[in-house]
Amino acid sequence: MIAISYSDYSEYGCPECGSTDCFPFDGVYGSTTPAECRECGNRFMIVSNKLMISAIGYNSEGIQSGFLGLTAERQIELLKKYYNYEMNAIVDEEGFVFPIRISHPRKGYPSNRKTTKEEDKYRK
Ligand SMILES: [Zn+2]
Repeated sequence: MIAISYSDYSEYGCPECGSTDCFPFDGVYGSTTPAECRECGNRFMIVSNKLMISAIGYNSEGIQSGFLGLTAERQIELLKKYYNYEMNAIVDEEGFVFPIRISHPRKGYPSNRKTTKEEDKYRK
């Protein structure tokens, strides 16, 4: 699961298909919303523009709110201690994965605009 910022979401929509028809599949936890796309079924985290890390973690069984009220100092501390390079996420002692916010994969293509196959080749 990837994490994107609120401003990227409002501009580009779902990271997979660009739809803005997404809903929270669990509660909203202040700084992070776990979102599911109604069009393609993709699940992702929408994270406050101030955060580098999703405040919600997940494992194979579900999600948990882990790092609420993350300060900048605490984020750096967590990154130093738990950063998993391959997953680009914080993985805590219990195996919960907290994705690091990334730049929106559809940057440049406004939400709800279908890309052509030709454009998709250059998308990532
Ligand atoms: Zn989608």
